[in-house]
Amino acid sequence: MSLLTVGSVAFDAIETPFGKTDKIVGGAGTYISLASSFFVENQNIISVVGSDFPAATLSEMNSRGINTDGLQIKEGEKTFFWSGKYHNDMNNRDTLVTELNVLEHFDPIVPKPYQTSEYIMLGNLSPSVQSTVIERITKRPKLIAMDTMNFWMDIAMDDLKKTISMVDVLIVNDEEARQLTGEYALVTAAKNILAMGPKYVIIKKGEHGALLFSESQMFFAPALPLAEVFDPTGAGDTFAGGFMGYLAATDDITFDNLKRAVIYGSAMASFCVEKFGTERLLEVTQIDIDLRVKKFNDLSSFDLKK
Ligand code: AMP
Repeated sequence: MSLLTVGSVAFDAIETPFGKTDKIVGGAGTYISLASSFFVENQNIISVVGSDFPAATLSEMNSRGINTDGLQIKEGEKTFFWSGKYHNDMNNRDTLVTELNVLEHFDPIVPKPYQTSEYIMLGNLSPSVQSTVIERITKRPKLIAMDTMNFWMDIAMDDLKKTISMVDVLIVNDEEARQLTGEYALVTAAKNILAMGPKYVIIKKGEHGALLFSESQMFFAPALPLAEVFDPTGAGDTFAGGFMGYLAATDDITFDNLKRAVIYGSAMASFCVEKFGTERLLEVTQIDIDLRVKKFNDLSSFDLKK
């Protein structure tokens, strides 16, 4: 089934207790599309970069079935840049720099073949860009999911709420769910988010797993306990890519399949954190994914005593 990803393709500079990188390739759209490329053979991406962005990265994406006709390259302009520093617990981070650059006036052109996409993953971007893409889609997709972050809640809450009302699934982390709703208890926050429009909400809790809610059902997926976490950047986007890639590949949007998709998303995210940036994702194989999903299954399945 056709999958369209919208999200930043960026340069990141990251500092963790284990080390520091100069500018490396990152961006929500990059992580999402790389993660979903393990599930769907062909997919499309809408984004924008400057002429400073490496052509080799775009070729690498193309070789993984990611069509970049909708990725604009702005001659003489600079790619979006984000820099963050993680605290010792690796669950919290401070944003040090956000340079919007090409994202500041981004007009997301939706090429004709993309306009009938059946699955759409709106990665972290300005909510008005996210809603513009939805408005430019000519056929109602089977499922639209979106991610966002505190940055947009601070500067564009009204736009954000409008975009949330247009999607089927909202994916946020626990702090974002609390900021969005003003509720501390995640069950109450989820209820409030569902009242904003989405049929499902996923609340990620970093190393403590992820919760999936519908109006009448709830599911919890653990995160895989890992001995070493090097860099959590992009883990949320990689989760979203695995989640949507799995749904698009299986073309089944029942709650039971959404549960499986949450596990696939969690498995993909567990790879992402093992090295800096996209490095680990680029070396993962299908066998690695199968083995890791099995680990998730072993981690939490048990028989009730008869
Ligand atoms: P995550 O760790 O999953 O929250 O995603 C981190 C990625 O999001 C980084 O690669 C950044 O380039 C990207 N990012 C950070 N801030 C923004 C923003 N305001 N808009 C779009 N992308 C962003």
